[in-house]
Amino acid sequence: MDKAVKSVDGPRTRGHGAARGKALEVLALLEQAHADAHCALHHGDPWQLLVATMLSAQCTDERVNQVTPALFARCPDAAATAVADLGELEELIRSTGFFRAKARNIQATAKVLVNEYGGAVPRELAALVRLPGVGRKTANVVRGVAFGEAGMVVDTHVKRIAFRLGWTRAEDPARIEADLCRLLPREKWTRTGHVLIFHGRRICKAPTPLCSCCPVSPCCPRQGVTRSH
Ligand code: SF4
Repeated sequence: MDKAVKSVDGPRTRGHGAARGKALEVLALLEQAHADAHCALHHGDPWQLLVATMLSAQCTDERVNQVTPALFARCPDAAATAVADLGELEELIRSTGFFRAKARNIQATAKVLVNEYGGAVPRELAALVRLPGVGRKTANVVRGVAFGEAGMVVDTHVKRIAFRLGWTRAEDPARIEADLCRLLPREKWTRTGHVLIFHGRRICKAPTPLCSCCPVSPCCPRQGVTRSH
């Protein structure tokens, strides 16, 4: 077990229970404030969510949602994507940025799914992260949203807010994920990602959080926060 994981709540003692209880209280307030939190990427099935999430790297969800209707009309599934012209794929996703690498990874992933999974998206984390261009964040989005499995998504918002709330001291996303998974019960993992992402967009912004209108202000240690509104 690495030090970063130990540092959050220590061994499974009364201290861990207290830390979890406090975190759940904070999470409940955030859930209340962001009851509408959800995955904003439009999709019709696990394949489309997988592609949309891959496209969302370094890009806004809004931009991805503008691009995917034409993309999915042309390539609705892994089978169609696997045999599509790569140049055409690149043009369809150009405005999302890094379009050459994204097109290459999406088509390579489609080929793996066709060759090894009958064209379906696997739901196991280990299988998902072996797909070209698919990291733990994308894998957890697909698990949590498309399959209803527990998936603790760590994106830039979750990373920043988990640190400010004192839920982790780690900087590496995999360690932050491990810290959050130890701190929060499994049934809260997927919801936590949605809520923290909405909280990050609306209130706990980078670089300056809006602490004066934050529902968890009285109980937030504001770890690392030097300036706030
Ligand atoms: S009090 Fe400030 S730092 Fe803490 S969660 Fe709220 S906005 Fe973020």
